[in-house]
Amino acid sequence: MRDVCIVGGGVAGLAASIFTARAGLDTLVVDGGESILARNASLENFPGFPDGLDARRYLQLTREQARNAGATFELGHVTHVHPVTDTDPAESQEIGATTRESSLEDGFVLETEGGEPLEARRVVAASWSNSDYLVPLDVGRKQRGNKHFVAVDEAGRTAVDGVYAAGRIADEPHQAIVAAGHGAKVALAVIHDSDANFYHDWVVPEGYFTERGIEVPPGCEEIDDAERRERDERARKSVLEAFAEPLDETPTMHPSVERERE
Ligand SMILES: Cc1cc2nc3c(=O)[nH]c(=O)nc-3n(C[C@H](O)[C@H](O)[C@H](O)COP(=O)(O)OP(=O)(O)OC[C@H]3O[C@@H](n4cnc5c(N)ncnc54)[C@H](O)[C@@H]3O)c2cc1C
Repeated sequence: MRDVCIVGGGVAGLAASIFTARAGLDTLVVDGGESILARNASLENFPGFPDGLDARRYLQLTREQARNAGATFELGHVTHVHPVTDTDPAESQEIGATTRESSLEDGFVLETEGGEPLEARRVVAASWSNSDYLVPLDVGRKQRGNKHFVAVDEAGRTAVDGVYAAGRIADEPHQAIVAAGHGAKVALAVIHDSDANFYHDWVVPEGYFTERGIEVPPGCEEIDDAERRERDERARKSVLEAFAEPLDETPTMHPSVERERE
């Protein structure tokens, strides 16, 4: 059983996976399609890129960062999530109620289309624009138009212990940096609720804590100047390689425009 399974490897899900994996939680990202951001033509409001960047490249680099952090990926569309203790997901879907009593220690089973069921202690829904697979858990979905958002508290926890929601599906504003930030914030709640020993995910210069007589807190790392230069060298190299050539991919068009054009 994994510590955490993140449904959706878009902006929020990838950001969440970087944080949970770096905190040492065994993290699996299941993604069944592509991020809505793949429809963007030029991403120009994501802080850190003065002239913007190709949105598909942003997604590619963020996936690579999640992999480097230790997250694993599985291609698949999640169809149901139910507590491990429930043997028949169809039955629990009918009842529509499995709540706080379904305990954290037991965890959840995630059924995927045509794939093997997956198990995780905690589940993060980061699956804009689909939350149907959460119906068996009765997390509290809110319908607006033809979309179902997931009700969460300010840390991203749903009404069911061990189930969280991040990004647009949690009714956050439809902007990439907000989805990324919310993914990170929800991941911190997941880390807090797990037994991971964690303070902040910070890398600091050697002596920052220890020269004040403070032990390096869990989740933090002190590095010396040689190590800092080495990491900077590696970071510059990978960014230069990534941006050396234009990406041979085009934005995904809205399906209704696509249909009209045919
Ligand atoms: C045309 C367009 C242009 C945009 N341009 C900008 C912009 O310039 N700047 C900006 O800030 N924002 C922009 N956005 C908004 C931005 O793309 C979203 O706000 C952001 O992607 C939301 O992140 P998310 O992680 O919540 O959803 P997504 O990034 O869409 O990720 C959700 C992921 O979940 C997966 N998924 C869904 N259901 C399942 C399931 N059942 N099982 C497994 N996986 C599942 C999907 O395949 C997807 O990969 C744009 C959006 C659009 C449509």
